Amino acid sequence: MNLEKLENILSDEPKFRLKQAKRAVFVDLIDDWSQATVLPAALREKLNQACPLRIKAEVLKGRPADVSKALIHLDDGLKIESVLMRHAGGRSTVCLSSQVGCALGCLFCATGRMGFKRNLTPEEIVGQVLLWARRLKKEKQKVSNLVFMGMGEPFLNYENVMGAIRIFNSQDGFNIGARHISLSTVGVKDGIKKIAAEPLQLNLALSLHAPNDAVRAKLIPYDNAYPIGNLLQDANYYLAQTKRRLMIEYLLIDGLNDSPEQALELAGLLKQINPPLFFVNLIAYNPTADFQPPSTRKIFEFKKILRDQKIDVTERYRFGQDIKAACGQLAGR
Ligand code: SAH
Ligand code: SF4
Repeated sequence: MNLEKLENILSDEPKFRLKQAKRAVFVDLIDDWSQATVLPAALREKLNQACPLRIKAEVLKGRPADVSKALIHLDDGLKIESVLMRHAGGRSTVCLSSQVGCALGCLFCATGRMGFKRNLTPEEIVGQVLLWARRLKKEKQKVSNLVFMGMGEPFLNYENVMGAIRIFNSQDGFNIGARHISLSTVGVKDGIKKIAAEPLQLNLALSLHAPNDAVRAKLIPYDNAYPIGNLLQDANYYLAQTKRRLMIEYLLIDGLNDSPEQALELAGLLKQINPPLFFVNLIAYNPTADFQPPSTRKIFEFKKILRDQKIDVTERYRFGQDIKAACGQLAGR
């Protein structure tokens, strides 16, 4: 659904029509304009022609059962994926894609191995939430949290991602608070600085995955263009500006970044973050490439070393569940 088109079509109508139409889309969660009975029949017909609401998707029930994945077919035939994670108490998180593929080519990532196809429009990003919200409504539930941890690097599609976030956040959109919206980035030039200047209080996660540039460049080729030193400077700037808590994501991969020495080195590196408003989220690698996750014992030891160094560590997604639930693995098939 294209909001700009909707606004254009309704520009000849009385002002309240746009409000009614948005309410029908984002609150009543209609999937066909014929259901928007507050609008005149002729207008509904016109909207169905010019601004169809249907979202073409294959939905797969995941394992565990509280995770579902959707493979969404875009108008040009490309495919993206989006994941719904349900939590106890009726809350639920949608994991969003921001691009089709990704130009950064991280070696461990299914999306990175696909290469970059194109940016998603704000409507295509919003469509992922509409899809899940419509399904949840049937069970009288709502989407409560959003994480940009699906396909793509959100900071390389900054304007469209922010356009979608404004719709998520706005009162006549989904009305989801900024504090319930999280962005994950590998850290591209200027991205973190831009987000620090946004008036919205969004959550930020930084995909670090290594204790030094030599290891990081083996996993993330982009590290050669934007080394850890720059990232930590950006993190410090972000923390000074926002006073929000930063999540440092660390993917544990067997034999690559999981040794006790590397845990100590990581702890040393993170001591450069100032103010120290951060926590580390350890993620066991979900094998999609030629890498393997470490053993449970190794993960435990890595975590213990960080804790002994007084670093706050979690082993799960704050925002959802562990990354096995998340994205990049469907659309690349
Ligand atoms: N491009 C952004 C956001 C999308 S990826 C970023 O890289 O942060 C979201 C998270 O999923 C990242 O932390 C990424 O490293 C992680 N990820 C990618 N492939 C994974 C896999 N196979 N197993 C576990 N985590 C993975
Ligand atoms: Fe892109 Fe993130 Fe995958 Fe790297 S991990 S290729 S930045 S989506």
